[in-house]
Amino acid sequence: MIRDQETLTLLLDSIARFVRERLIPNEQEVADTDRIPAQLVAEMRDLGLFGLSIPEAYGGLALTMEEEVHVAFELAHASPAFRSLIGTNNGIGSQGIVIDGTEAQKRHYLPKLAAGQMIGAFALTEPGSGSDAGSLKTTALLDGDAYVLNGSKRYITNAPEADIFTVMARTDPVLTGSAAISAFIVERDTPGLSLGKIDRKMGQRGAHTCDVIFEDCRVPVGQLIGGREGVGFKTAMKVLDKGRLHIAAVCVGAAERMLDDALRYALEREQFGQPIAEFQLVQAMLADSKTELYAARCMVLDAARRRDAGEDVSTEASCCKLFASEMCGRVADRCVQIHGGAGYVADYAVERFYRDVRLFRIYEGTSQIQQLVIARNMIRSAR
Ligand SMILES: Cc1cc2nc3c(=O)[nH]c(=O)nc-3n(C[C@H](O)[C@H](O)[C@H](O)COP(=O)(O)OP(=O)(O)OC[C@H]3O[C@@H](n4cnc5c(N)ncnc54)[C@H](O)[C@@H]3O)c2cc1C
Repeated sequence: MIRDQETLTLLLDSIARFVRERLIPNEQEVADTDRIPAQLVAEMRDLGLFGLSIPEAYGGLALTMEEEVHVAFELAHASPAFRSLIGTNNGIGSQGIVIDGTEAQKRHYLPKLAAGQMIGAFALTEPGSGSDAGSLKTTALLDGDAYVLNGSKRYITNAPEADIFTVMARTDPVLTGSAAISAFIVERDTPGLSLGKIDRKMGQRGAHTCDVIFEDCRVPVGQLIGGREGVGFKTAMKVLDKGRLHIAAVCVGAAERMLDDALRYALEREQFGQPIAEFQLVQAMLADSKTELYAARCMVLDAARRRDAGEDVSTEASCCKLFASEMCGRVADRCVQIHGGAGYVADYAVERFYRDVRLFRIYEGTSQIQQLVIARNMIRSAR
């Protein structure tokens, strides 16, 4: 749902200009230094990018899902590391509080997240539980006026920068399965919380992940999200449903960028006395990429509109994440191919994007997990 087309167009134009004039020219520096310059972070704050999906009452822009995916299409034309920095505040690092938090929790944290004064992270994955998130082992046992957390979380996006973590932990030590999982807001400086060393990743330099370790970490009872035990896994799944649509939109934007670069290259590069864009085998790669991209864009917009209309889009969000992330991988591969040897050396952005976009098929549910969700939902509704 687009509430006011004129306002949205203004926002998208200013983001497109920011991407073109500020983010793309700084991509290589971010990749070389593994750091987003502070000045750019400040400009992202000024544009309101940290609070896109946070309700207006708490200082955010309260974009609808359809509006948010349009923003993600634009932003993802630049290196995915930039989107990753604002991604957790708008998605997995804030939505647990937005969707299920108490009024006091919302009032305390959301304005700071929306303003980018605070960075939020989402800590579900553990060394022993990734796809099988419901088997997580971190415990949070009630002791007087606090829960005592013990365990460790793995690959947590923005953990090195984070001020607060949404942490899923087991509040019942006996009960197995997801019904014993609760969600907490844990502040970075809580005694007993420590960070591992920053992971060395395949791509997305400038975006950081690391382990988050809890050793007798006492978290006040007021930090239990929604004030209710046993619903933390449901909160996490609701957060991921929305996140999957957002990531699918990011895949569309990143694929558009790679295809723009490849088309430009194909028009400039000459072989056999003519631009390689004239060769039908190169045209096939351009055309297949364009076609798949168009399909993914349409899917994402349709699912976003349905979500805005109040439909349960669990299946559609997984369809979008599955198709758009796999599409993005295929487009990346073809765009490297169109660049020939130049696509394999670091002078061209496509080499970096090829590595950066590989992540989209893995996090917020691998492609195989999306397939399982889709098929399970189909079977459940047919019975
Ligand atoms: C850069 C990065 C950032 C991340 N950020 C976060 C974050 O902010 N917060 C967070 O909590 N997590 C985060 N993650 C974790 C991410 O969500 C997990 O890596 C992902 O869910 C997969 O879990 P896993 O790595 O344990 O793989 P596994 O679950 O061990 O999967 C390995 C393989 O087995 C397949 N597989 C597993 N189960 C099945 C099945 N039932 N049927 C078929 N195939 C199956 C998978 O699809 C995959 O191909 C991040 C990961 C990375 C790499």
